[in-house]
Amino acid sequence: MGSFMKYDAIVIGCGLAGAVSARELAERGGKKVLLLERRDHIGGNAYDCFDDAGVLIHKYGPHIFHTNNERVYNYLCRFTEFSDYMHTVTANIHGEFVPVPFNFNSIEKVYGDRAEALKAKLLEKYPEGTKIPIFELTQQDDPELIELANYVFSNVFAHYTEKQWGVPIGEVSRETLSRVPVFLSYDNRYFQDKFQGMPKISYTSMFERMLDHENIEVRTGVDAAELISFGDDILFEGKPFSGTVIFSGALDELFSYEFGRLPYRTLDFGFETHACDGFQPNATVNYTVDQPYTRITEFKKLTGQQIDGVTTIMKEFSRASGEGDTPYYAILNEENLALYAQYAKKAEKYKNFYPLGRLAEYRYYNMDAIVARALELSDGLIENK
Ligand code: UDP
Repeated sequence: MGSFMKYDAIVIGCGLAGAVSARELAERGGKKVLLLERRDHIGGNAYDCFDDAGVLIHKYGPHIFHTNNERVYNYLCRFTEFSDYMHTVTANIHGEFVPVPFNFNSIEKVYGDRAEALKAKLLEKYPEGTKIPIFELTQQDDPELIELANYVFSNVFAHYTEKQWGVPIGEVSRETLSRVPVFLSYDNRYFQDKFQGMPKISYTSMFERMLDHENIEVRTGVDAAELISFGDDILFEGKPFSGTVIFSGALDELFSYEFGRLPYRTLDFGFETHACDGFQPNATVNYTVDQPYTRITEFKKLTGQQIDGVTTIMKEFSRASGEGDTPYYAILNEENLALYAQYAKKAEKYKNFYPLGRLAEYRYYNMDAIVARALELSDGLIENK
């Protein structure tokens, strides 16, 4: 593999966390950066590519960029233009497509003649535009609102959440469930952020441009876990490396599961190509009352790609992540966070080592939050150089 000495920084993992920090250290920090990626492509889970039918797909599940953070938006705009795509999701409830987050349009669809009275009751209690977490809605004292809450709880949340997390809904963190509130509005968009959209060409081309810098060397198909070890210092191929190491993989794996496995959920993806123009009414349909999969995404509706007579969809199946699986979601509860803290403590001993991102920090980050974290970490590293 050759000497690592000539690099000022080694970044491990080429998703958003790794790519943004590599670019920042290389460009703003003037550092020589080596970026190592285990997979044979860049982009991490945001990687997209064309399938055999010529449809642009998100290989590791749908990624929809949205943010209120102007710095993050402007930063990514250096590397891609964004379309004005606004994400919408529906729940397939026994064949009816009901907008999610559950909103006034959903109430009309489900309750017909009773909708006006229900909306009025909600508006007596909350101003229009309020986002109410489902567990707050279930704690109303009005019988009709309790009925509504129970409907949403059972038909939108309970089954989907149990499929997604593999435990009864009561064991899933409130923070996770609050990501999808009940929304007192006719706005069907899944996100209300100021900036949202899809890269006009692709995520992968955004990453290509981000990594196209004279101070960055990217090596894909290289498993850093086989090169790195931890003694008194961080070692690469047995030799101490005193430069910056940014790591965006799973910490438990990096430290050989020393304190035990960190629980994650993994996903199996079922891709299907159909000989028709369109498969479903909107880009993502959640299966909230039946089916073994959680949701179906139809990529053309996400990316806006114009291609006739063919469409590719993807079913997502969630299960516990075991040996050899790709971890996607940290399972946030007290016990797991305590286990993570042991790994984090070990990592802290190495002053030039920075865990960054959804896996390494064992967090439920959205794309924009990871970019923000990578920019902030880079700010600190560049200022203190
Ligand atoms: N959720 C649900 N029904 C839905 C959508 C979401 O029960 O139709 C719950 C579920 O527990 C899910 C969580 O809300 O894991 C967060 O949903 P989000 O869409 O943010 O998940 P992601 O897109 O990150 O997988």
